[in-house]
Amino acid sequence: VGGGNEGGREANVQVVLRCRPLSKEEQKANIQSAVSCNDTKREVTVLNSLFKQADKTFTFDKVFGPKSQQRVIYDQAVAPIVDDVLDGYNCTVFAFGQTGTGKTYTMEGEMMQQVGELPAAAGVMPRAVRHIFDILEARKADYSMKVTFLELYNEELTDLLASEDQSRFPEDRQKRPTISLMEDGKGGAVIRGLEEIVVYSRGEIYSLLEQGSARRRTADTALNKQSSRSHSVFSIYINVKVTTTGNQEVMKCGRLNLVDLAGSESIARSGAKEVRAREAGELNKSLLTLGRVITALVEHSIHVPYRDSKLTRLLRESLGGKAKTCIIATVTPSIHCLEETLVTLDYAYRAK
Ligand code: ADP
Ligand code: MG
Repeated sequence: VGGGNEGGREANVQVVLRCRPLSKEEQKANIQSAVSCNDTKREVTVLNSLFKQADKTFTFDKVFGPKSQQRVIYDQAVAPIVDDVLDGYNCTVFAFGQTGTGKTYTMEGEMMQQVGELPAAAGVMPRAVRHIFDILEARKADYSMKVTFLELYNEELTDLLASEDQSRFPEDRQKRPTISLMEDGKGGAVIRGLEEIVVYSRGEIYSLLEQGSARRRTADTALNKQSSRSHSVFSIYINVKVTTTGNQEVMKCGRLNLVDLAGSESIARSGAKEVRAREAGELNKSLLTLGRVITALVEHSIHVPYRDSKLTRLLRESLGGKAKTCIIATVTPSIHCLEETLVTLDYAYRAK
C-alpha cells in the first residue's frame, strides 16, 4: 500500500536528560556543580555564568536531576515503552553521554546478587525484565521469549552470551567469537552466529544479564577501557498471544532493545577536528550515523542513512516505522566537564 502515515516514518522519539550527582570524591575535592536541573519545568541549565558568559538552558521531554532514583527513571521514561513492546511494537532505549556520566549505571545499575528482590540501584535492564514478567504473569498470557546481548566495538560485533567453550581449539577458547551482520532482503538484518537464548523465567534473564555485563567488564580491563568506545545492545524478543474482542487469537511480536552507547566524547565536534579524528580512527561511525538517522527520522527526510553503520543496520526495524525510541542523555554536573556536557546537550536536543 505504502505512502501516507500508515507504517510511515513517524518519529516517535523521546529525549530525556539525567544528571548524576557529584561523587563522594568530587565532593571531597570541592568540585563545583555547574549544571542545574528543574525537573518540573523539564529544564536543564548550564551555568556558563561561572565563566562570565550567558547561562544556557535546554528543555527536554523529561529532566531527572541528581537526586533521581533508578525507579523513577524507569517508571517515567521506560515503563510506557515496555507496555508498547507487549503490544507488538519494536522499541529502543539508548543511554547517551560522555564516559563517566552514568550510562551503564542507568542501563544496568546494580545487578542481582541472588534471586529475589531487585536492589534499589538496579537499572533499566533488570527493571524492564521484571516489568515484562509481572505483566505477562498477571495476564496469565501465553508467550514465548528470547534474548540476545551483543557488543559493537570498532564496527565489529561480539556475542556477550556465547557459550564459552564452543570452540574445538583450546587456543581459540579465550577469544570471544565475532559474528556477522547480513541483510534479510526485507529491510531487516540477520545476525549470523549470534546466540538467541530462549528464556522461560525472569531469573534466567537476570543471570544472562549478569553474565554479559561481567564479560563486558573483563574486556574493559583487558583492552584498556574498551567500554567507553563500545556499544552494548541487549534485546528481548517477545511473542504474546492475544485474544481480540472478536474472539480471534493473534500473536503480537514485539522487541525491546536496551542500548548502552559508546561515550559521546568519541564523536568529534566539527570541521578540521573531525577530519583529524577520522584519520586517527577515533571517530565512532555507529554513534555518528545513529545521530544522522535520528535527525532524518525527526525531520521526516526521504533518505534515512541506516546502511551507513552496523548499529543502525542492526536496529533498523526498531528505528522509525512502528517503533518507539527513548534517548536518555546523561551528564555530570562537574564544572570540569562543561564543554562535553554542552556537546551532549546539543546533540540530544537536536534529536527532539
Ligand atoms: P558511563 O557508563 O557513562 O561511563 P558509569 O555508569 O560507569 O558511567 O558511571 C560512572 C560512575 O558514577 C560509576 O561509579 C557509577 O556508579 C556512578 N554513578 C553514575 N550515575 C550515578 C547516579 N545517578 N547515582 C549514583 N552514582 C552514579
Ligand atoms: Mg559505561
